[in-house]
Amino acid sequence: MTARILLVEDEVKLARFIELELSSEGYEISVAHDGMSGLALARSSPPDLAILDWMLPGLSGLEICRRLRATGSAIPVIFVTAKDEIGDRVAGLDAGADDYVVKPFSIEELLARIRAHLRRNQEKEKDILQFEDLSLNRLTREVYRGKQAIDLTAKEFDLLEYLLSHPRQVLTKDMILERVWGYDFMGDSNIIEVYIRYLRLKLEENGEKRLIHTVRGVGYALRE
Ligand code: CA
Repeated sequence: MTARILLVEDEVKLARFIELELSSEGYEISVAHDGMSGLALARSSPPDLAILDWMLPGLSGLEICRRLRATGSAIPVIFVTAKDEIGDRVAGLDAGADDYVVKPFSIEELLARIRAHLRRNQEKEKDILQFEDLSLNRLTREVYRGKQAIDLTAKEFDLLEYLLSHPRQVLTKDMILERVWGYDFMGDSNIIEVYIRYLRLKLEENGEKRLIHTVRGVGYALRE
């Protein structure tokens, strides 16, 4: 999948240069030349990573970062700063920045940092699967519906993990059996219905809306 990058930089020539370089690397890039339109862009179509100039007309890069973090955005943010602004780095870290490049920088340096942050973020995401208010942590094996922790058996966990890693896809009973119970499973495929029922009971214990839907005659799908 193409990573989407937001660049907010008021030096139009520099912005154009970065835009061309990033596009030729295959990134989908959107550009703003001032703080307010940068923040608006970040909110209307959330990017996978943001490159923010420090000094911007309207709203500083620092303020954009702060406001994104305040609304729960966890995207990597790389600041572009001029040499004489280096003293402000601490403020940037406080605002939730992930990295810096100092002007003048080589495009290779910027590209390397972008790659590193996107990779790190993808790895982080893979450990935690989320759908609506349901989340599952593959490392700690914790499952939450909203703020409510849900206690699952090993098989229930595996089944939910499989559903969560294929949101909105219809998973046939054969696929589920093969993936969750293994090729050599000799029992009755009704076991899936039984486990789906267990999962629903636990996930809907407080009247939460149904997320695991039956696709009649086929299998199951995780849907809103
Ligand atoms: Ca500037």
